[in-house]
Amino acid sequence: MIVDLRIAVRTHACLLLLPLLVATGCKQSTPLRPAPLLLQGAVDIEVNRLLDSIQVTHTDTIGAWIFAHGSIDGYPVIVSRTLMGAAHAAAATALAIDRYHPRAILNIGTAGGYDTALHYGDIVIGQSAVSLAAFKSPPLPAHGGSHPLEWTAMDLVPRPGEVNNLLHEGTATQFSADSGLLAAAHRAQAYTTGRKVVDGVIGTSDFWNQELDRIAFFRQHWHVSVEEMETVPAAQVASIFKIPFLGIRVVSDNVPNGELAFDPRTADAVQDFAMRVVHEYLGRL
Ligand code: SAH
Repeated sequence: MIVDLRIAVRTHACLLLLPLLVATGCKQSTPLRPAPLLLQGAVDIEVNRLLDSIQVTHTDTIGAWIFAHGSIDGYPVIVSRTLMGAAHAAAATALAIDRYHPRAILNIGTAGGYDTALHYGDIVIGQSAVSLAAFKSPPLPAHGGSHPLEWTAMDLVPRPGEVNNLLHEGTATQFSADSGLLAAAHRAQAYTTGRKVVDGVIGTSDFWNQELDRIAFFRQHWHVSVEEMETVPAAQVASIFKIPFLGIRVVSDNVPNGELAFDPRTADAVQDFAMRVVHEYLGRL
């Protein structure tokens, strides 16, 4: 009888507060909190300035991944250190989406320039990202060598409605940036002085490529501006969950320009630019 009464009281309260409770699942104690922004960088040098900026309240460690919670302009933000490479980036993105339901994802970091117009410290806003990781080779006999420029690109992402997974040959996996995040990056670009900031194509694979012919091949086919190791897998997972995504990279090396040495100091510039993008994005929410 007492139990019934409690249920009746709770049901009545739920009905009165219906508009609010739809969002909270009728948990009276859960305050309404906006979905956080997720800021990703692979390694410490790519997240340390972000961590300094968000006034970290607590950090979750899940396996090898850390997720630091804080805020920017009063808005909840999570900084995620994804670790390097595709598998790490995809796993960190999936974990963050499942646990924290981010409103949008900004993936930032260093990258190797392919475009000779880009130098140390220049920033590329990833209008799109293309996978440089999936290829099918023509058959060759033993001692036939290996000829990467003859490989055909593949897209492993299923098309809408596709039942069986097919290898889509002749096309690479590509993702376009979210228009809202891109617009915020363009507004941030307008504020940036003394540094080149351009739109471009980010190419991703677990590969550090220093072969000029291969670089030319990727530029010819996909107009790749910079190569790195995380953007596409993070974008791929984000796209499955329909979460707005943007990649931003700073040039830390550039083989075609002979800038072979990786310069870790460039990571500061991309974090500072990302903070500007976040301010612009939040300002229009
Ligand atoms: N500490 C490393 C440098 C990092 S390189 C060293 O010992 O040299 C790997 C990271 O930098 C990856 O997260 C990748 O996204 C990025 N990166 C920078 N330049 C790159 C390049 N030319 N090719 C591939 N990844 C690059």
